[in-house]
Amino acid sequence: MTARYEVVQVASLGAAFDARLAAHYRVLQAWREPLGLAAFGGELAGPRVAVTSVRHGFTQPMFDALPNLQAVCSWGVGYDTLDLRAAANRRIGISVTPDVLDDCVADLAWALMLSAARRTAVGDRYVKSGQWRAIGQFPVATRVSGKRLGILGLGRIGEAIARRGAGFDMQVRYHNRSPRPQSPYPYETSLVDLAAWADFLVVACVGGAATRHLVDAPVIRALGPRGILVNIARGSVVDQAAALAALRSGELGGAGLDVLEQEPTDAADFADLDQVSLMPHAGSATHETRAAMADLVFDNVAAFLRSGALLTPIADREMQA
Ligand code: NAP
Repeated sequence: MTARYEVVQVASLGAAFDARLAAHYRVLQAWREPLGLAAFGGELAGPRVAVTSVRHGFTQPMFDALPNLQAVCSWGVGYDTLDLRAAANRRIGISVTPDVLDDCVADLAWALMLSAARRTAVGDRYVKSGQWRAIGQFPVATRVSGKRLGILGLGRIGEAIARRGAGFDMQVRYHNRSPRPQSPYPYETSLVDLAAWADFLVVACVGGAATRHLVDAPVIRALGPRGILVNIARGSVVDQAAALAALRSGELGGAGLDVLEQEPTDAADFADLDQVSLMPHAGSATHETRAAMADLVFDNVAAFLRSGALLTPIADREMQA
């Protein structure tokens, strides 16, 4: 009789990871099938652990298809695409890949802040298209150093963004649902007040229904015509139509967006806005960080199959939320 599968993989995490996992465990590679889990029958009774990614997610039908599932190991730190309620109902643990991506996502937040303020992407096009020679001096832009940095979501990534502010001589304040004990930065109870204070408002909170359109028209108006909005969290946190309208009318000074409400997109609405810098959801996308994320998924699978415990589970508070 063929041995049961131990792991089911619903998303490929790259050739190196896929091969490593398959070399250590009996893996049902459901991602190879266009129908996914629906392509299988009795084999689905085997796996105790599933591997997925934040992009691929893990939905109620996936939980339903796997009767003996005990853990889901996801690649990425967001969990807006993972059905936490379905997992909690069956006491299935979920791990994500925190900490290892903080620096690279924070670096990208700063790249977007600098690009939106100093127009580096526009300047690149200006030089390469011959405009420098043809037109002359590039328009003056907005100063970054010494300004006020507001952070919505002072968690792991938000902290890494805030720490970098010291190198730019910036004051930092933040807004969370509740103040962080021992944080050196002043807490603002109101997001509108934080936006009114800040020159740069960086969004680094969780995505999902609870934070949908947290950055709405009043917050954007409070940030104002000289303010710059940066979002490296999830597109859903910002009311994109309100942001776009404010950018067009001049009520908002600029934006740096790694994430948008629809992904992928050609973002045609933003195409003519030089005060906006866009990235294609690439916060963690460096060779080093992607390798560390894959290692952490592997380590979670290994730890669970060895001991029944995940290394980096989503906290109970979030699972119950
Ligand atoms: P984290 O450590 O859990 O921090 C999340 C922060 O959000 C916490 O400070 C939390 O504070 C705050 N928060 C949660 N709900 C809130 C609400 N309703 N209102 C205000 N603040 C709220 O998470 P992280 O590791 O820093 O990651 C943050 C997010 O970044 C992820 O969820 C993911 O969506 C995004 N991300 C994006 C990329 C990318 O490629 N662009 C890569 C990685 C992660 P309280 O609990 O006190 O409210």
